[in-house]
Amino acid sequence: MLAVEGLKAWYGQAQALFDVSLTVGEGELVVIQGLNGAGKSTLLQSLIGIGPRAQGRIIWQNEPIQAWPAHRRAKAGLGFVAEDRRLFTALSVKENLWIAAPSVASPSAESTPAQRFDRVMALFPQLQTMLHRPASQMSGGEQQMLALARTLMTRPRLLLLDEPCEGIAPVLVAAMRDALLQLAREGVAMLVAEQNKILAQHAQRVLVLTSGRMDSAA
Ligand code: ATP
Repeated sequence: MLAVEGLKAWYGQAQALFDVSLTVGEGELVVIQGLNGAGKSTLLQSLIGIGPRAQGRIIWQNEPIQAWPAHRRAKAGLGFVAEDRRLFTALSVKENLWIAAPSVASPSAESTPAQRFDRVMALFPQLQTMLHRPASQMSGGEQQMLALARTLMTRPRLLLLDEPCEGIAPVLVAAMRDALLQLAREGVAMLVAEQNKILAQHAQRVLVLTSGRMDSAA
């Protein structure tokens, strides 16, 4: 469903990605590993269309999308959760979720916003108990769950996740991992950047980025 061919990216004169190619098939869980600064975030940001200057081909559902702005990629089914979560911290959990729901229910959609809300509540029961709490008063792990839940409200077909289990309490790491594996079982494809190898052991493929180059596939 996603194919990346010869992707290069630059911050000013500094090249961060060198001819990166990869694919993610329907329902696949693909993990990208790499040290700090290897280019994992740059790669995910380039795919969703918020990265630095880039060249190369990004094919989504057989269409080249590298010239599309980020909102069009999101509308086409790419969902991104950034490492820094990017929540509306003054808004409540419930408001953060509803703000992400498409305002017009499309007749072709497989679920309504209300059904998706119920589904994310079932996936993250922890959030149910804090629906009216401002996001600023949540722990890092709870915020990470909310960021993923908010992206799920947009009905993504492929989730691009930047370090979803990084820097959060162990009990919430387990809850996050279980939620992601549940989504994978339901057929949501995922491309996950992670250093801590929480999801790698469950992945169909593990790719390694080293200094902006894709090393090997396992
Ligand atoms: P981390 O796990 O630390 O987030 P990463 O694998 O996600 O690392 P990137 O953040 O994509 O790596 O960084 C890739 C390279 O691009 C690094 O050399 C980094 O210093 C550089 N870089 C990242 N963001 C910027 C920026 N905004 N301006 C200039 N250079 C940047």
